[in-house]
Parts: sequence; structure tokens; C-alpha cells
Amino acid sequence: MAVVNAERLKALVTTIFEAAGCAGDEAARIGNYLTEANLTGHDSHGVARVPRYVGWLKEGRVEAGKEVTAIVDTPSIAVLDGHYGFGQTVGPQAVRIGIAKAKQAGLAAVALKHAGHLGRIGDFAEMAAAEGLVSIHFVNVVGSILVAPYGGVDRRISTAPYCIGVPMPGRAPLLLDFATSLVAEGKVLVASMGGKPIPADALVSPDGARSGDPAVLYGPYPSGPGPRDPMNGPGAIRAFGEHKGSGLAFMCEILGGALTGAGATGPGKRFCNGMMSIYIDPKIIDPDGFFPAECAEYVAYYKSARPEQAGGEVLVPGEAEARAKAKKLKEGVPLSDGTWDAIADTARSLGIGDNVIKAALN
Ligand code: NAD
Repeated sequence: MAVVNAERLKALVTTIFEAAGCAGDEAARIGNYLTEANLTGHDSHGVARVPRYVGWLKEGRVEAGKEVTAIVDTPSIAVLDGHYGFGQTVGPQAVRIGIAKAKQAGLAAVALKHAGHLGRIGDFAEMAAAEGLVSIHFVNVVGSILVAPYGGVDRRISTAPYCIGVPMPGRAPLLLDFATSLVAEGKVLVASMGGKPIPADALVSPDGARSGDPAVLYGPYPSGPGPRDPMNGPGAIRAFGEHKGSGLAFMCEILGGALTGAGATGPGKRFCNGMMSIYIDPKIIDPDGFFPAECAEYVAYYKSARPEQAGGEVLVPGEAEARAKAKKLKEGVPLSDGTWDAIADTARSLGIGDNVIKAALN
């Protein structure tokens, strides 16, 4: 296990993406967002993605230096094309447009299509919350057919994340942010590299047997660092929450995919994220200022439920992330040996010296 200071980890990832052909500001954004995912406890969307992102850049599946362009632009609606640019660039651009419109109109909807991998969607809800806005995000992953719907064993949906953020004056926002699959694909990736195992019922084999073995998703893979292609495995990830979770995933495909113009996931489609976001200014809906105090009171009431297990605690959405971040900023970001070795191998393959790679560990 390697434990890396967050700033040094960001710097190494930035160096890697500069060496891979990104401009300095874009490389820094990728370094920031991937490290932020690790800091908030979502290693699945963190620096473990570095080798795959570099591979995608080389293959032209994601393109450096792209910006969003507007297809529709009204006072309260924007439809944006991300041109398969890095999600860490086109994602925050789309969110800034949504924030600006919601501040003017009180309510805004932003459809983003053809975004490169957007990573942790919670980052975008946090951006909106920092500006005092509630936001709701329906996302799909076009061309990434990984998840079996409720009642089926064949892959038909993406891991289609769903996210809601609510600003809370003076404390971390309320933040619900999850994949609608039982686990995010990145969590299977992390488990395959020696990180935290996934639940024993997270995957389903073609014969309907449930499994926690990453090979069900990737097929046979090398034990050390090396490529894992989720399109190679025979099985699928299961949708969370039985018919309800599967239904939410379906609606993420319909709103994040079909309504944005990105397309619902399916065979033969180019990999990208589609994101349908809604931004609400609570100050317009709630001129009396009832909402913040009511939220704070409800958080306290919710958390006062007696824990199921001795020593347990009821957490509100976003609390786990805020705690993980405070701890890791202080103690460093733990990475499994497999994840660290894969990042170091990628850096070396781009001509980055061992002195630079090792400096991140000091
Ligand atoms: P997860 O299963 O860890 O669930 C996270 C949510 O559960 C958060 O809202 C968190 O606050 C809450 N939570 C965690 N522990 C809790 C507890 N003990 N009590 C109450 N609430 C708790 O998340 P996931 O499904 O693994 O998703 C991980 C990340 O992957 C998310 O950030 C998501 O946006 C991202 N994702 C992105 C894509 C993409 O294509 N860009 C696809 C899928 C997932």
C-alpha cells in the first residue's frame, strides 16, 4: 500500500497528462478531479483511472483541448455538445452555464451530450451548492453496456449515476451521489487490482449465478497492473435496489442519454457521458428563508434515529465523503500496490523519470 499526499498526487497526475499531450490547465483539472474522488472515498473514480484515461486519449476515444458549444441557448435551457472532450473540462463548463442561468432565471436545465468520462458527478453538485443552488443530475454512459436490468441477466444499461446536491449554509452540502449499478464499474476495477473487494452478489453470470469475482466482468485478467476491459467478461453488474433501482437507471438512460442527444446506451455507440442537469435557486422558491433551517432541523432529527448496531451511526448523504476528505487531507491518500504500480508504469511509458514518480511518495 502506498500513502500519497493529496497535493503531490495531483501534481504527479498533472505531469502524466501533460506528458500524454494535454495543455497544462486541462492536465491540472484531471489531476484535481481524480484526486478529489480519492479524497472523498470514491477510489473507483480516482487516480486508478489514469492508465485507462491515457489509453483512451491515445486511441482518440477522448480528445484533449475541446470545449462545449451551445446547440440551444435560452434564458433557462442550454443544450451543449462536449465533442468527446475530457469530462474534467466540459463537465465544469456545463455546470458553470447552468449556475449562471439559474442565478438569472431561478431555474435552469442543462443537457450535455458527448462528454468524455465525467468521473465523480458529486463534484458538479458541490460546485452548484457552493453557489447556493440545489442541483439534480441524471447521467448515462453511452456505449458502456455493463448492467443487467431487474429480472434480466443480459447487459442492457450503463452504470448510469444519479446525483442530488443541496447547499447547507456553514457545513458540507447534502450530497446523494451514486451509480445505479450495485457497484460502480471502477469499484470492480479497484477490487481486481487488490483493493477493497466488491459484495458477493454484485455481479451476475450468464447462467444467473451471483458473484463477487471481477473476472465475471473482465474475463481472465493478469494479477498485477495491466489492462482490464469490462467488455471482455461474460457476465454483468446487477442494478441496485431491485425494480426501483433498475427503474431509476432506466430513467437516467432516458433523460441523461435520450433527452440530451447523447443517446441511451446500446451496441455500436461511441463511449461518452450524457448529463441532464436541473438547477434550482432555493432563495426564489423560499423567500422567507424557511429551507436552510428546516434542512438543518431535519438532518438532526434523521440522525437521531437509534443505530441498528451498537457503536453505529446514521449518516446523511454526503457525510461519508466529507469525513473521508478531512481524514485523507491530513493523513494522505491510500492506494493499493496494484493501483500505484499501474500509475507508475503509465508515467514511465510516457518518459517520466523514476525520480519524479518517487518524489510523489516523499
Ligand atoms: P456509493 O455506493 O459509495 O454511494 C455513495 C452515496 O451513498 C453518497 O451519497 C454517500 O454520501 C452515501 N453514503 C455512503 N455511505 C453512507 C452511509 N453509511 N449512510 C448513508 N449514506 C451513505 O457510490 P457508488 O455507487 O460507488 O458511486 C461512486 C461514484 O461513481 C459516484 O461519485 C458517481 O457519481 C460515480 N459514477 C460516475 C459514472 C460516470 O460515468 N461518470 C458512472 C457511475 C458512477
